[in-house]
Amino acid sequence: MSNSTPQTFEFQAEIKQLLDIVIHSLYTEKEIFVRELVSNASDAVEKLRHTQLTEKDVVDNDAALEITLTTDDKAKTLTLQDTGIGMTRSELVENLGTIAHSGSKAFLKALGENGQKNSGLIGQFGVGFYSAFMVAKRVSVYSRSWQSNEPGHVWASDGSGSYTIEEASDLKRGSKIVIELKDECSEFSQEWRIKEVLERYSSFVSYPVILNGNRINTVQALWLRNKADIKEEEYTEFYKFQSHANEEARLRLHFSADAPLSINALLFVPKENTEKLGIARTEPSVALYCRKVLIDAKPKDLLPEWLRFLKGVVDSEDLPLNISRETMQDRSLLEKLGRVISRRFLKFLEDEAKNRPDAFNEFYAEFGVFLKEGTALDFSNKEQLSKLLRFESSLTEKGKTTSLADYVSRMGAEQKEIYYLLGPTREAVEAGPYLEGFKARNIEVLYCYEAVDEFVMNNLYEFDTKKLRSADNADVKLSDLANQSDDRLSEADLSKLTTWLKSSLGDRVSEVKASDRLVDSPAMALNADKMMTPHMRRMMKAMNKEEANAPVKVSLEINSKHPLIKRLSETSISSPDKALLVAEQILDNALISAGLLEDPASMVKRLYKILESV
Ligand code: ADP
Ligand code: MG
Repeated sequence: MSNSTPQTFEFQAEIKQLLDIVIHSLYTEKEIFVRELVSNASDAVEKLRHTQLTEKDVVDNDAALEITLTTDDKAKTLTLQDTGIGMTRSELVENLGTIAHSGSKAFLKALGENGQKNSGLIGQFGVGFYSAFMVAKRVSVYSRSWQSNEPGHVWASDGSGSYTIEEASDLKRGSKIVIELKDECSEFSQEWRIKEVLERYSSFVSYPVILNGNRINTVQALWLRNKADIKEEEYTEFYKFQSHANEEARLRLHFSADAPLSINALLFVPKENTEKLGIARTEPSVALYCRKVLIDAKPKDLLPEWLRFLKGVVDSEDLPLNISRETMQDRSLLEKLGRVISRRFLKFLEDEAKNRPDAFNEFYAEFGVFLKEGTALDFSNKEQLSKLLRFESSLTEKGKTTSLADYVSRMGAEQKEIYYLLGPTREAVEAGPYLEGFKARNIEVLYCYEAVDEFVMNNLYEFDTKKLRSADNADVKLSDLANQSDDRLSEADLSKLTTWLKSSLGDRVSEVKASDRLVDSPAMALNADKMMTPHMRRMMKAMNKEEANAPVKVSLEINSKHPLIKRLSETSISSPDKALLVAEQILDNALISAGLLEDPASMVKRLYKILESV
């Protein structure tokens, strides 16, 4: 059955509708037609490869499996040729003239659900073969099937409603698509332009992609290969290529999963956290692929925010291949994918912390801030993340850290809470009065040096059912010390002194009481305002927030064993004016330790007065 005269066909009604939208909608990224045609070619070659496994009688059986592109900027054409499965006459009609195939069908379905022609929709779909008509005044498809009794044909159309098919002789197996470009799209007959698009979308296509004689895709899709067969240098080369990096990665996770989703992922943590430089927020850049074809180089909603430092590739076969390459339609699928990947990555970090603690600690020093962010904000991963947090503590050496789990393992039977103290440095935390009571009782306190730590601790709230508590919190109750010295103010004197202090210091203190926590310092200021911790106050101040200007009010705790307090008890009766100066100075000193002193000038004046009286 031969058809040597051209025959004209009308496109199916739906195809006409589709073509009309494709051609006339404002489509911002015309270049994606290259990706669509290359991926069709790759599919066709893949199908041929499968056919070769079962069929002996295949046309041009030893032709190399490859995809060739040729630009001609004089003729303003772009030609794509593949050695794939090809199409018979009836397949040309069926595949390119009707809507039987998946991608475009799904597109039209969504279009129907939306009620009318919606140009916003088109951006969300790869429209496959028809996308060529965005740039073409005429498309000719020369195709010869692998089946030896089938002649070749040429299918041609200007996209306006009909197409022709006629027999063509001397064709090799596969398809050759010649695109005669519209004048305003002549850029796609420029080699550099096509090279750029191919590098963006088709770098990992399985078969050689050759542009004007030069192979474009030289780096393999490593993520689909067996780990055991991949050399270290290959990983490095891949990482540098894919992440535009100059140096090696710091950590690498290569894994695949079959359930609940089919996933192949190759993730990297870079050497450096570029956000540390304070220049710009890192953009999420784990690229999403479906069977080696790029869907989105920077998917925003794939991974949780705090994982924005990760680089690499996630490939899932479960993504609908033919639709929504532009933006993922199926949000829940994307979320599911993201969930599996973040869990797996957290598990990886946990293993690293166990098996390679030095590497983990170096990672933590650079990227720990992201883990903290996640602990505070990513509710679904909070628990896993909290296990990865590390802090110095009153029991570690300077520069060494502990995990919360290790802290808990060291807690005494009577200790119910996990204590921490905020401060800019180890020295600053240890110089303050707050640690004394804990040290005297051998209770470990975590040191938090970073601005986000308070926020993290508040949001985490508890670990292993133990509440996290700031050691300068007024509600902390410590047990009595066993060897209490009797060398302290009597209950009666103490009560007189606290009453006197409260009335003398007035509005600056919410209460004055004897402390169970002080050992070497005469007094300390505890936070009376639960909503506004000293740390928060400093942050608010830095942000020029109104709330930070409310007068500071603290609860003052005094040390009834301290000589200064004992002297003050006497002076408050013998020489109340002098005692008042001392009391005010003790309060100011306590405020300095708390980072809350607001008016150093008046303190200096008072100090001179005190010095005069010596
Ligand atoms: P999809 O790829 O989503 O199926 P397309 O519009 O991209 O939709 O392609 C339609 C169909 O045309 C394909 O399913 C395939 O059967 C056929 N086709 C397209 N390009 C080629 C090609 N280069 N070789 C063989 N068949 C092809
Ligand atoms: Mg396609």
